[in-house]
Amino acid sequence: MPKTDLFESPDYYQLDELLTDEHKLIRKSVRDWVKKEVSPIIEDYAQRSAFPKQLLKGLAAIGAFGPTIPVQYGGLGLDYMAYGIIMQEIERGDSGIRSTASVQGSLVMYPIYAYGSEEQRMKYLPKLASGELMGCFGLTEPDHGSDPGGMTTNFKDAGDHYILNGAKMWISNAPFADIAIVWAKNEHGKIHGLIVERGMEGFSTPETHNKWSLRASATGELVFDNVKIPKENLLPNVSGLKGPLGCLNQARYGIAWGALGAAMDCYDTALRYAKERKQFGKPIAAFQLQQKKLAEMITEITKGQLLVWRLATLKNENKATPAQISMAKRNSVETAMHIAREARQILGGMGITGEYPIMRHMMNLESVVTYEGTHDIHLLITGSDITGEEAFK
Ligand SMILES: Cc1cc2nc3c(=O)[nH]c(=O)nc-3n(C[C@H](O)[C@H](O)[C@H](O)COP(=O)(O)OP(=O)(O)OC[C@H]3O[C@@H](n4cnc5c(N)ncnc54)[C@H](O)[C@@H]3O)c2cc1C
Repeated sequence: MPKTDLFESPDYYQLDELLTDEHKLIRKSVRDWVKKEVSPIIEDYAQRSAFPKQLLKGLAAIGAFGPTIPVQYGGLGLDYMAYGIIMQEIERGDSGIRSTASVQGSLVMYPIYAYGSEEQRMKYLPKLASGELMGCFGLTEPDHGSDPGGMTTNFKDAGDHYILNGAKMWISNAPFADIAIVWAKNEHGKIHGLIVERGMEGFSTPETHNKWSLRASATGELVFDNVKIPKENLLPNVSGLKGPLGCLNQARYGIAWGALGAAMDCYDTALRYAKERKQFGKPIAAFQLQQKKLAEMITEITKGQLLVWRLATLKNENKATPAQISMAKRNSVETAMHIAREARQILGGMGITGEYPIMRHMMNLESVVTYEGTHDIHLLITGSDITGEEAFK
């Protein structure tokens, strides 16, 4: 049975007054799309652990793929407030769908835009913005997750082309992506980005099964067995770990907004349920213990909203530091995880069913807290930033 999505966004501190009409219009159009296209089907896809590929066209149409990329490359040239709002609204629907959009925009289009040649920009960006091409981002390896600098995937100069060998794992969008941005070391141990295309001989993308989290998102490996890469597929304008880290900064910024979307959906669901569900002759919303949960949820959401709003203004002014983005990503995800757990309890037994979105959000957030830098690594980034001492190396 398709579900009706009754979501109403909490705005306890009248933050809407800080948004422009354009931001509110973008939010409305993305929210309407999520209500119409995502909410009615997502639970079914998550339960079956399938990716709803039919949503890709719609995601492109609402501007979810690279909204900040300039118009001449097929993007919308929007600001970072708009980008954050789009990610918030999509993740309010499902973290897996937001992951697909984040990867496409921040981890595939952004590096081509920021580090690519003009030819690469013109060749790939318009098709990525329209969803005609889909991409993935290969950084993590079986033995190198939090420490990507230790990667062993490598490429060698073979005259008029490179030869790429190695493997990446936990790669979102890998099973269906047309291209992959792959980070690998050259003969001198320097990290570079390469654009690898599906169909290149020796390149395969086996799907990862048995996930209990992000079940409506396709995850896979990237395997390179002597893959011949044309030299023009190397991203010419970056080398070293700062290349992939620059992309992660973009994506983490989107997650900071996105995870709050998941938190808002859990809060909104729990509030509505608490007002309707009666026990001992009155709505459970009338009991102090349930009010405590709800009051704490809206407090944390409001604090998170203020944080990402300020982060967006800093990002628009090109002043947001990686450590500030790191703090917001960790805070939003932790807030969302806590709210999902509390909201699930408010729904009692119903909270564990697929009739409501809470359990799905809760399970999704277990990936969101780990990818794009784990909770612990982000804490250590803040620790290092304020003390000047790196505690994770
Ligand atoms: C569903 C999903 C999708 C993903 N999509 C992508 C993708 O598209 N592209 C991509 O490249 N990667 C992707 N990832 C990989 C993700 O970024 C990694 O899982 C993450 O970086 C953590 O690496 P790891 O799993 O190897 O954990 P590890 O690095 O092995 O960490 C295990 C634990 O040790 C802790 N730890 C590690 N080092 C330290 C330290 N120095 N001090 C204290 N604690 C430490 C961590 O915080 C963590 O709790 C995805 C992961 C998931 C689950």
